[in-house]
Amino acid sequence: MTLLIAQKTSKTCTTIHTVVAVGAVAMLGYKVELVMVALGGNAFLRKGEKGDVEEQWANVTRAARQIVEMISRGYRVVVTHGNGPQVGIVMEWMENMRDKIPPLTMDIATAMTQGWLGYMLQQAIGNEMEKRGMKRRVVALVNQVQVNPEDPAFRNPTKYIGPYYSEEEARILSSVKGWVMRKDPRGGWRRVVPSPDPILNVEVEAVRKLLDEGYVVVASGGGGIPVYRDKEGALSGVEAVIDKDLAGALLAREVGADALIILTDVEGVYLDYGRPGQRLLRELSLNEARKLFETGVFPPGSMGPKVLACIRFLEDGGKVAAIGHLEKAIEIIEGRSGTLIRP
Ligand code: ADP
Ligand code: MG
Repeated sequence: MTLLIAQKTSKTCTTIHTVVAVGAVAMLGYKVELVMVALGGNAFLRKGEKGDVEEQWANVTRAARQIVEMISRGYRVVVTHGNGPQVGIVMEWMENMRDKIPPLTMDIATAMTQGWLGYMLQQAIGNEMEKRGMKRRVVALVNQVQVNPEDPAFRNPTKYIGPYYSEEEARILSSVKGWVMRKDPRGGWRRVVPSPDPILNVEVEAVRKLLDEGYVVVASGGGGIPVYRDKEGALSGVEAVIDKDLAGALLAREVGADALIILTDVEGVYLDYGRPGQRLLRELSLNEARKLFETGVFPPGSMGPKVLACIRFLEDGGKVAAIGHLEKAIEIIEGRSGTLIRP
């Protein structure tokens, strides 16, 4: 297996070497070679921002720096990202233009966000690699993920998409457009859509091959484009948005990642989150995480799937998982920030 390492080879020149079988690097006390990094919505849009394209580039560039810093420390990285706000925006464009341009479907909306956000990450990560003297080796894929069309999630929508509305606006949208609206833990009301469980990453073989060639691969963006096998055995899109953390854990297992790092907009997993006595959990065993998860303290559509993603990843042989703040990725992998979950 090849591994890209950025090294200062002499005092005068900085080059990138393709080193064969360099092996693992220590992370949080484990030997880690391949890391799955799942980027939250704040990698593109931070709370309180309007979402200007300049703001988006600034955010993506910040996220890219963290990823390339990991690579420079010797890790191979596979990246996934959310698309909640963006898929909602695409859906709204379609909705508002429906008299002029026939609206497309939700699976296509996710494909569009994979292009949009994947392109931004691909460019920003590549720029950062070149800036540090590494070879630009990064690619974003349009990527389908299989779900079960009978998944009970189709009858109980939980996934937040699009902008935040007031309670009054939410009531109007729900009666005029038939949208299901729910209160977001961050505040405000948002549209929720079905979020079926990911079963299989359709393009996993391509992801593996690219990783083996030393590429940083951006895959399963927005949880992947949800598809199912129809009666004839052909793949076909469904109207849903898969949770990116669950899809990220699935892909991490499928490509044999050692570590799963979920980066979001909070310091980690809290007990009594949002209440006066909230406490940050710094470390959990898999068993403790399972027990807590089963009590239902982590809401669906936000922290719930992150904790579940870590549980599934570790149950399936992952070495270590962590949840923490996007801007503290390096502190997290050094064990100085975030919530660490051990097998
Ligand atoms: P992302 O785009 O990173 O996936 P999510 O909204 O899905 O973001 O999940 C992160 C959010 O989870 C936080 O902003 C916070 O509001 C919410 N949250 C709910 N419960 C908890 C908890 N127990 N600890 C920390 N954050 C929580
Ligand atoms: Mg999320």
